[in-house]
Amino acid sequence: MRNILPLFFACILLSCPSAAFAQSNDQPNFVNLVLNNGNLVIACPDNMISSFEKKNWLQYGNDIRMSFNPASKVKPASELTDDDLSGNCVLFLGNAITNNKITGFMKKYPQVAVEGNKLSFGGREFSGKNIFLLVGGPSSVCEKKYFLFGLSSGTLPQISAECLHVALKYDFLIGDQYGVISFGIFDASEENPKLNWKTATILPRPQMKLRTTEHYEFVFPSGTLAEKDITKIERFQEECYEKVCSKLGFKKPVKISFLLYPSLPDRAAFTGHSGNGNADDLLPRVYILYSDSAKCIGSHEITHILSAENWSRKYPGEFLDEGIAEYSDRIWNKKTHREIVRDLLKQGRLPRIIDLESAWNKYQDNISYPVSAAFVAFAIEKYGIVGLKKIYLSLGEDRSKSIEIYLKESPENLQKDFENWIRKE
Ligand SMILES: [Zn+2]
Repeated sequence: MRNILPLFFACILLSCPSAAFAQSNDQPNFVNLVLNNGNLVIACPDNMISSFEKKNWLQYGNDIRMSFNPASKVKPASELTDDDLSGNCVLFLGNAITNNKITGFMKKYPQVAVEGNKLSFGGREFSGKNIFLLVGGPSSVCEKKYFLFGLSSGTLPQISAECLHVALKYDFLIGDQYGVISFGIFDASEENPKLNWKTATILPRPQMKLRTTEHYEFVFPSGTLAEKDITKIERFQEECYEKVCSKLGFKKPVKISFLLYPSLPDRAAFTGHSGNGNADDLLPRVYILYSDSAKCIGSHEITHILSAENWSRKYPGEFLDEGIAEYSDRIWNKKTHREIVRDLLKQGRLPRIIDLESAWNKYQDNISYPVSAAFVAFAIEKYGIVGLKKIYLSLGEDRSKSIEIYLKESPENLQKDFENWIRKE
């Protein structure tokens, strides 16, 4: 699964408890990067920011915008109107150099400082690699909410889309690369709002271990099964990396942060995401469950990252994105995708490609994943990797058209070809 956030931004903004903030006159100039179709403005301080950083922020802003609403249009900063700003959430991005520009205009805020891998906030200190803070409150630019990114290091915000998701429900969220550390709300009734830690949730963070290999940085809690098996996991994941690259022709090297969680409740609490695994191609990072009952290592999640990095970050839709990721694993519940699809065909339960592509969520995972994977294998045989990549890029540009149009086939012919291919030994 690749992260795609639902379009609930506006509803959450209306239901958020509001915090009391005051603005100083010393507001920095902001470079507005993107506007998400009437919901999200992403901005960063236009001060002490290099052109390299600006390019990175812009890419990140575009990616977040894509994950909120793939169909939205980018609006250049110069064209933003008062109306655009007044009805929107503004996401201010800070980094190690520009954090102070943002905190500087939040005068009533209880003790915010980010330095190195330490973050002090509301009288408490937190530490972690790539620690960040998200704070919501009204701003002078926008009467609704804004959020602040505070970073400990690096030139890109290290927050996952899922953490942003969790943060939107509260007034603040502190996290690091492993996920959420704490979140909570403020009492807005006080004149000088102070953060009451008794009302905030703090997740006990286990002691973390870190191991690096050529293409990965593995992060896992000490004393877990992942720690016991780590040498095996490292070897297996490097093999998967090589296999995916050679099968799909990916050449651009990527270093993937690979986080292993010991249980489903742990994974859900730290990442804000239910399910066994997901990938965030923005960071790029994989979050998977690794327990006695489910060891979700393999090629699927890293393929999401490698295809986004090598082909395009523009999401081509579940059918092709999940199809390619699943194709790289080849096996679903101990059967090949082709065997599963052949059984579905015999039982008269095989969905039409055009239906599965347009209504992915209507089908069970046991059908949608193997069928899309088998279709990708068929497409590679018929059109080659170059042909498949072309379709991926076209769908990323314009998802209002369906795959048949890009393949220049009628739905009936395509279905017939696919079914004949499935029947072949
Ligand atoms: Zn997936």
